[in-house]
Amino acid sequence: MHGLHSVRVHDVYDPNRPLIAMVRQPSFDKYRSQATPTDAQLKCRKRSLPMPQGRCHCGACVYAIEGEAVRASICHCSDCQRCAGAHAVGWLAVPRAAFRLVQGEPAIYRSSPGAERWFCGACGTGLYYINEDVLPGIVDVQIATLDDPDAYPPEALMQLADAPAWVATLHKLPRFERFPPD
Ligand SMILES: [Zn+2]
Ligand SMILES: [Zn+2]
Repeated sequence: MHGLHSVRVHDVYDPNRPLIAMVRQPSFDKYRSQATPTDAQLKCRKRSLPMPQGRCHCGACVYAIEGEAVRASICHCSDCQRCAGAHAVGWLAVPRAAFRLVQGEPAIYRSSPGAERWFCGACGTGLYYINEDVLPGIVDVQIATLDDPDAYPPEALMQLADAPAWVATLHKLPRFERFPPD
């Protein structure tokens, strides 16, 4: 129930508030140097993406990312699970200055004090998350809403303490490109 997506104290999001960086930002830098990039990651890094965009399922809400992302990770916290109706949510942390809402007026669900989950009110797609107390200056974008989610391979699995136990063995399940053959 605690962590980046389920946290504390704030009243109202003020879009005019200047970027602040007083709170320590989680960084994967020290882990990155130890990890050998996978082929998929190397492939992704070679892509040039002038302006990555994303949208909700119905297309009413569209956003663009105009700058470097900070990190990509997958969260298993209980708030993410319940809000998404899924066992995990992939997040791309983007500096506020690099995030631009191109179209639409997303609605907000406050899943805990200070935590704003912005979603399309028409189709229900979760789009991005803002929590100035925990992630100052950051817009956390739901990776699966990007037009090219492959461009941002997750670098870590977070909040596994809240995950269903079977998450640990997902890689052992039979795999199908679509469905099992008859
Ligand atoms: Zn929509
Ligand atoms: Zn979460």
